[in-house]
Amino acid sequence: MKTTEEQRKNAMLRYYYLKSHHICVKCGCREAFNNFVFCEVCKEYSDVQNELNAEKRHQQAKARREKRIAEGICIHCGKEPVETGFKSCKQCREKTSKQRLMLYRRKKHEVNKSYISEGLTDAQRANLEKARMAALKSEKSKAQREKFKKQNHLLFVK
Ligand SMILES: [Zn+2]
Ligand SMILES: [Zn+2]
Repeated sequence: MKTTEEQRKNAMLRYYYLKSHHICVKCGCREAFNNFVFCEVCKEYSDVQNELNAEKRHQQAKARREKRIAEGICIHCGKEPVETGFKSCKQCREKTSKQRLMLYRRKKHEVNKSYISEGLTDAQRANLEKARMAALKSEKSKAQREKFKKQNHLLFVK
């Protein structure tokens, strides 16, 4: 979460006010515990603790990644050895490239969809409408409807 300068300033003011009054800086309602800035209840769940944990986790992940690179094993699964020039194994690379391909396909599909709905010129749209009206008029003829479908198909596939 992003905090603004104003929020940070307010938080600091609140922090020092509560601290100087020996009130828990987290809940702001209970008396601070011993020499801590938190009450007994909040002490265990303090932001400082959370931040330390997060920092520790981050460092651990970084260390694990570096260790795996140094050992020449995949940074993702930590099991498979990697070929020179790579940081992940073949399976993990395939997995990520598959995910990328899926993202790419989804994007392409979206582009196609917008092309069909918005990418037509006025003339194409008019032709389409004319063909649709003609097909509606001659409902008796199934063949014509098939033709209309085919025409549409040609219009969309470029
Ligand atoms: Zn508290
Ligand atoms: Zn792997």
